[in-house]
Amino acid sequence: MKIHEADAKSLLVSQGLPVPQWEVARTPSQARAAAGRFLANPANATGKVVIKAQVLVGGRGKAGGVRLAGDVDEAEEIAAQILAMEIKGLPVRRVLVAPAAEIVKEYYLSVVLDRATKRLMFIGSAEGGVEIEQVAAEQPDAIVYQHADPLLGLPDYAARELAFKIGFGTHWKAGAAIAKGLLKTMLAYDADLVEINPLAVTREHNADGTPVERLVCLDAKMTLDDSALARHPELEALRDLDTEDPSDIEARRYDLTFIKLDGDIGCMVNGAGLAMTTMDLVKRAGGEPANFLDIGGGAKADRVAAAMRLILGDPNVKAILVNIFGGITRGDEVARGLIDARAQQARSVPMVVRIVGTNAEEAAELLQAASFVTAKTLDDAAAKAVAAARGAAP
Ligand code: GDP
Ligand code: MN
Repeated sequence: MKIHEADAKSLLVSQGLPVPQWEVARTPSQARAAAGRFLANPANATGKVVIKAQVLVGGRGKAGGVRLAGDVDEAEEIAAQILAMEIKGLPVRRVLVAPAAEIVKEYYLSVVLDRATKRLMFIGSAEGGVEIEQVAAEQPDAIVYQHADPLLGLPDYAARELAFKIGFGTHWKAGAAIAKGLLKTMLAYDADLVEINPLAVTREHNADGTPVERLVCLDAKMTLDDSALARHPELEALRDLDTEDPSDIEARRYDLTFIKLDGDIGCMVNGAGLAMTTMDLVKRAGGEPANFLDIGGGAKADRVAAAMRLILGDPNVKAILVNIFGGITRGDEVARGLIDARAQQARSVPMVVRIVGTNAEEAAELLQAASFVTAKTLDDAAAKAVAAARGAAP
């Protein structure tokens, strides 16, 4: 789950990282008010504010979603323009307003989950501000990689080593502390990615006017591990439904595991292992599954009906294969769900049903009475579904 810059910044602040202040605005007039507060602050070195689109895509700057304003009128005008934008297909519903920083140098620093080594890994570069993929392609030597230790994390000596390798110069202490803080943030929220680009050296002014440089997180991108969200229920509120496929939202509401694929045979199965086996057998019978769908244990009729809506929501689906192994899940409950679902469905698609296990006989009676096509074995069911998808009556 991706979260917005402003939300990621809040998490960074709560883990003690240096982030310049900001406010979030949903309307141009809110942006104007926020800009007024920042511009009135004599510590604002540039006399400007930065207004940034809050959308879950990279490269907002290039797309015109990050702009500077010199007074409240301009701030309101720019906020109105950004709030009317769509960036890479996503609507901008909020903007972040912050005092514009005077940037001296831009670095890149992130922590990612490196699946190959099963460790968290730092990626750092003195060539920040641009996309790291571009740096990797053009100047691969400008990127530094360093793994965290699974037990020790990033001890002080390792943090210093990383800071020197990246080349923070006189800011090495701040750089080392930020690296430790990013790892702490990563672990505290079960993130997959915490990326600061730019991690910037900014010039600010003390009360007496003397300039000071600080290393601060000017941008923040964070991805949370969906599978760990149950450990952080408060983070669920940060989910942005604009970025999600409606079928994913519906699947989550009914506690279904649904992954869309490219084929034309919709599969409804209980249990992840059985769902994979079912997909394999569809393939062996010469067909292509349209999805992976695990309705889970103990599914009731309403969940079955929701699963059917998800499958039928895919216009490519030409046949449906239902394969249920009744354990905790009762076959007759699933059969009733299928009968309800078929009565409601807007589109008629041939369906082949195999239900074995708990209450299979009751299920068979119900399905027969409702004239469903049934199959006794999984091979038979797969063959019938493939034939049906090709236009033969199952
Ligand atoms: P992204 O394009 O989505 O990664 O958004 P960023 O927040 O990284 O902003 C893009 C670029 O805008 C940064 O690399 C900076 O060069 C510039 N920028 C962002 N915030 C400020 C700021 O406060 N002051 C100045 N002068 N430039 C900024
Ligand atoms: Mn950025």
